[in-house]
Amino acid sequence: MTEKILIYDKSKPGRTGYTLPKLDSSEKEVLSRIPDKFKRDKDAALPELTEGEVMRHFIALSVKNHHIDTDFYPLGSCTMKYNPKLNDAAASYRDFREHHPLAPCSSAPGMLRIMEMVSSYLGEISGFPYISLQPAAGAQGEFAGLLIMRAYHKANSEKRSKIIIPDSAHGTNPASVAAVGYETLQIKSNEKGIISPETVAAVMDDTVAGMMMTNPNTLGIFESHIKEIAEIVHAKGGLMYMDGANLNANMGIFRPGDVGFDMMHFNLHKTFSTPHGGGGPGAGAIGVAEKFEKYLPFPVLQKEPDGRLWFNYDRPDSIGRLQFFNGNFGNVVRAYAYIKTYGGEGLKKVSENAVLNANYLKEMLRDEYDLPYDNHCMHEFVLSGSRQRKLGVKTSDIAKRLLDFGVHPPTVYFPLIVPEAMMIEPTETESKETLEQFAASMNQIAEEVREKPDYVKNAPYTTVVKRLDEAGAVRNLDICCPE
Ligand SMILES: *Cc1c(COP(=O)(O)O)cnc(C)c1O
Repeated sequence: MTEKILIYDKSKPGRTGYTLPKLDSSEKEVLSRIPDKFKRDKDAALPELTEGEVMRHFIALSVKNHHIDTDFYPLGSCTMKYNPKLNDAAASYRDFREHHPLAPCSSAPGMLRIMEMVSSYLGEISGFPYISLQPAAGAQGEFAGLLIMRAYHKANSEKRSKIIIPDSAHGTNPASVAAVGYETLQIKSNEKGIISPETVAAVMDDTVAGMMMTNPNTLGIFESHIKEIAEIVHAKGGLMYMDGANLNANMGIFRPGDVGFDMMHFNLHKTFSTPHGGGGPGAGAIGVAEKFEKYLPFPVLQKEPDGRLWFNYDRPDSIGRLQFFNGNFGNVVRAYAYIKTYGGEGLKKVSENAVLNANYLKEMLRDEYDLPYDNHCMHEFVLSGSRQRKLGVKTSDIAKRLLDFGVHPPTVYFPLIVPEAMMIEPTETESKETLEQFAASMNQIAEEVREKPDYVKNAPYTTVVKRLDEAGAVRNLDICCPE
């Protein structure tokens, strides 16, 4: 690391980048108005720079990180597609941004109308007519759905304690199960990477509250026995939860509400255009079938015959409130803009192109990498770096080497059932040329693994920092000096 980016190093005494209004009286008089306990003994140690220097500093920092605006980002399961900047502009519209969340509903009929419309669109896309936009993430949507399951069973005086989860599931599924106080009953995927009805039948009994499924699952494969599985679970009094994080593969093609699911969550920040890298704001809206409507988190948006919308807090059967206020409204606006722009036919094309791109990329990579589940894939697919591992190169080394090609690596070591997993989701917004470029980079790395494995093991070579202690970087954050 030779390049210094410490803004303090550029500081020169007396330089400023601001202009303050003139004082309305003497400095001494102004200071006398500030209580002593808020006064400093000495000046704050702030860097002194011009506005232009500050701007260059932050722009220089911004391009040191990889992001979707600089290059390809095939991070499986995260749907890192290009999100139109216009939707950000819509979400930042002043009347939305500055509306106080405690202001009365009557002061924001337009905002309520947007919430109503997004709810109705999500209802149409999913087949679930009752929607809550409140959950702030997919994980919180799961939590809400499981609380609804629990409330439903309790109302029927049933004592059930387990939730069936496939071994390919996202980690948030068992975490949500534990948060609600249920136990996880994990079942194995079959040799095709999907769940067989017999496997569910073998464990389904009256201690099971329900089952969570992801479709397409995290291997990128369509769960083709859902109807049968739902019948088995329902016949023994259980409920079906759909993890809808992979909805980018399904829009206009498969409606969870039509095939036996009882409820689901949506990740507006994956499917419906909110950039969500770095733990940004999310929206994990949930949809439920009619008999679960009364359990939805309160307040619930309600419509009068004259069209007036209001929030109903009087919901005696509700699972309660998941957070203050009514969800991340900015995400809802982006979803509104996204859905309105594409329309129904357009959304279907989004999903079709996501699937087409994934299959095209998979075909270009299958010679050099192992493909443990060799099916037609949906919006993503999972490769294994086992062949490379035998030559001494780990999947994490391949991921690091990819950085030298200006590409964000795929999701690695997940799903857990694939050794040395690389989970690749190209999304629909990438061009044929980008996909070909990525395949060429991956295939070149495979060749390097055969010919000069140490070179791959020491990558990356071109990034600002080399190999970080990733866990340590989060726990002992040092935003000053990347040495
Ligand atoms: C992203 C994801 C989740 C969790 O969503 P968050 O918004 O990150 O909490 C759950 N399941 C799957 C399959 C996912 O990809």
